[in-house]
Amino acid sequence: MDNKDRFAFLAEWYDPTACLLRRYQFFYYPNDNSVEMFDLKNQRTFLRRTKYGDIHAKDMFVGNRVNIFSRQLNLVDYADRYTATKLGSKKERTLALIKPDGVPKIGDILEMAIAANLMVTNAKMTHLTWSQAADFYVEHQSKLFFNSLVQLVSSAPVVALELMGDEAVSVWRKLLGPSDPEVARREAPQSIRAQFGTDSGKDVAHGSDSLAAAARELEFFFPTAICHGPPNTAIYLDCTCCIIKPHAVAEGLTGKILNSIAAAGYHISALEMFNVDRANAEEFYEVYKGVVIEYVDMVTELSLGPCMVLEIHGTDVAKTFREFCGPADPEIARHLRPTTLRALYGTDKVKNAVHCTDLPEDAVLEVQYFFKILDG
Ligand code: ADP
Ligand code: MG
Repeated sequence: MDNKDRFAFLAEWYDPTACLLRRYQFFYYPNDNSVEMFDLKNQRTFLRRTKYGDIHAKDMFVGNRVNIFSRQLNLVDYADRYTATKLGSKKERTLALIKPDGVPKIGDILEMAIAANLMVTNAKMTHLTWSQAADFYVEHQSKLFFNSLVQLVSSAPVVALELMGDEAVSVWRKLLGPSDPEVARREAPQSIRAQFGTDSGKDVAHGSDSLAAAARELEFFFPTAICHGPPNTAIYLDCTCCIIKPHAVAEGLTGKILNSIAAAGYHISALEMFNVDRANAEEFYEVYKGVVIEYVDMVTELSLGPCMVLEIHGTDVAKTFREFCGPADPEIARHLRPTTLRALYGTDKVKNAVHCTDLPEDAVLEVQYFFKILDG
């Protein structure tokens, strides 16, 4: 990168106190990793040029969210042509739909997507109705297989993913491989459909086939307007709450953690990605305030980027799942309980890979906080 590079964006921040969408010009200087913000409405500098360690050149593209001093800014546009041509050329978003037969393999599938430099920027488990599935697959309505396709996709929960990266549409379709798993096993044996597929109906996952299709299909599952997409699958019964923390998501550990959870025999009954702002992180961790010295750092970590929230379902699951997560401090976990999630994937007491419900009586409340209140 050029030493004098300055990248300019249009950024939006929703101010929850004033209930206002605030708009800024946002500048990023890669040579010293500094940022600067200009308030567009009031026409004045909002943040003078400041070095900021928690931001990286790779985060700088339209469509991404960046966290600046606990504010989640949406980078909504490039603010000059230089930035647009230098950074904006190849970034795409696509919709990946993990079909019912692929859901048990979601950990492996995410590992493959992450290894191919695709970032998961949104995720939701949902159980489509027949008519929602028919709507999604409307382009195939005249095909002979239409009924069986719609029937299969609406038979059990699916997981919709928004994937972002260079040429995401074609990269994801290449990872999927040929539509028919039998053909895929011959022609692309490493592909997702070759490894996990059964036949031309049970082909594990779907991928948008063009940018236009991606835009339509993303809007179907993750609408930008006030209206809601298909609902999440939380059941709020015999369950516990697990959060794959922002640092673990950013480190690309989501697939590995989901694999470990599945391998230990736990059933994931709901899954959704959230961007938690500071006020909500404080509220969620309220019970730890004044009790745990890491409280403030925990709040900061939870609001530092997207996290993946799970509802884990099973009888008395809160207690056993908490043991499976291990001691809160990963160093201690690695000594005493080396096979636990925190021992395997944690860094320190705050970046300890996962949050899980502490007291079984709080489990439903924690699950509700995300899947009812924040998803509401
Ligand atoms: P792709 O998902 O690779 O774009 P198509 O657009 O050709 O594949 O087909 C859409 C979906 O229809 C496939 O993912 C597959 O699940 C389903 N499908 C295709 N052919 C059949 C078939 N013969 N029987 C059942 N389902 C089929
Ligand atoms: Mg297709």
